[in-house]
Amino acid sequence: MTTPCIICVAITGSLPTKAHNPAVPISVSEQIESTQEAFEAGASIVHAHVRNPDETPSSDPDKFAALKEGVEKHCPGMIIQFSTGGRSGAGQARGAMLRLRPDMASLSVGSNNFPTRVYENPPDLVDWLAAQMLAHGVTPEIEAFDLSHILKAHQMWQAGQIAARPYVQFVMGVKNAMPVDRAVFDFYIQTVQRLFGPDAPWCAAGIGAQQIALNEWAVAAGGHARTGLEDNLRLDRNSLAPSNAALVRRVVEICARNARPVASWQEARALLGLRAGANTPALQPV
Ligand SMILES: [Zn+2]
Repeated sequence: MTTPCIICVAITGSLPTKAHNPAVPISVSEQIESTQEAFEAGASIVHAHVRNPDETPSSDPDKFAALKEGVEKHCPGMIIQFSTGGRSGAGQARGAMLRLRPDMASLSVGSNNFPTRVYENPPDLVDWLAAQMLAHGVTPEIEAFDLSHILKAHQMWQAGQIAARPYVQFVMGVKNAMPVDRAVFDFYIQTVQRLFGPDAPWCAAGIGAQQIALNEWAVAAGGHARTGLEDNLRLDRNSLAPSNAALVRRVVEICARNARPVASWQEARALLGLRAGANTPALQPV
């Protein structure tokens, strides 16, 4: 049976603003509306950062709580993934929202360069974030900006720092980090399957114009796909993406061309071994 493709929508991120693309959702209410539209278009995971009113990144747990409540209400069953990425705060502030028990959270397990700075993930902070996720029952998504991050995740899994089999996301195309490179991409897949098992789920994200290439590669190779305005603001060279949902629909089309069904939230939760959330009507009799 063909594995359904899980589509993750990264709605906001830390960097893009309305000056870049007016469709970037900034306020929590805009984020909920954009998520609902993307959910209805086929996304089953929402990856979220939160922002201040002036569009700068925030790590305010109250904003995350309001976003979670709204998504649970308007997108029942959707998998909620919070970012613990480094642009939104420093040190342990990056994990302050984990006590809200989202289904998932991103976890970077090593450092690398970003376009204008070092993306710092010191070992003690990585250990602390992983421990918080364990304590609160949050499943990590490992952000692999480099091959070493996949092997580090494996070590952490063996050491019991990660409860479930890691869900690894390959991030390619961040300036000064791993470029979009097909041979590396294939080796990433081989490495995940060697370390975590031949049926281990993985996903991929490409930045900017490369988003579509990574979507194509991941869907065709049996992986899962991330899209959204966090990573890419355009449909093509000449047009801005009108919404997160428009980018999701682009992945749905790629799935159709590759004979991959799009995963429902129920299928996505099963594939990732996620617990039922407060918002999972699946567990009630239909
Ligand atoms: Zn993010």
